[in-house]
Amino acid sequence: MILGSKCTRNCGFCAVESSVPERPDSEEPVRVAMAARDMGLRYIVITSVTRDDLPDGGAEQFAKTINEARKYLPDSKVEVLTPDFNGNFNDLMTVLHAKPHVYNHNMETVPGLYPPSGPLPITGVHSACWNMQRKTLRIYTLSQA
Ligand code: SF4
Repeated sequence: MILGSKCTRNCGFCAVESSVPERPDSEEPVRVAMAARDMGLRYIVITSVTRDDLPDGGAEQFAKTINEARKYLPDSKVEVLTPDFNGNFNDLMTVLHAKPHVYNHNMETVPGLYPPSGPLPITGVHSACWNMQRKTLRIYTLSQA
């Protein structure tokens, strides 16, 4: 899991701490790739907390980590499980241009189980999240057409 251990959302779907996250670590992509190489991984899944505090939602860090993993492990497969990037087309394309073998994005539950809309960061998941998750997957689908 990249981009720290603290999430800017508080969904209740996971046990990740919701708090103000650390600054992104510029050395993280290389260290992740080296660790994967040292473990001899043939399949690498890169995921992250949600970083609504960053202008690109952490997309560039995903892209760099994919690129480093490809460099250190050219024969391994790389999957990414990304946040929704608030439905931002450019952020998702930043990740996809790094050409992960598999793109993954979770739809956590059905819309009826999301609470009504409210402010997004650090206040919990709500119905807007469902719409952004759908938008993210729609962008991905269109990008593959
Ligand atoms: S956005 Fe993801 S990591 Fe953050 S609290 Fe929700 S489920 Fe957990």
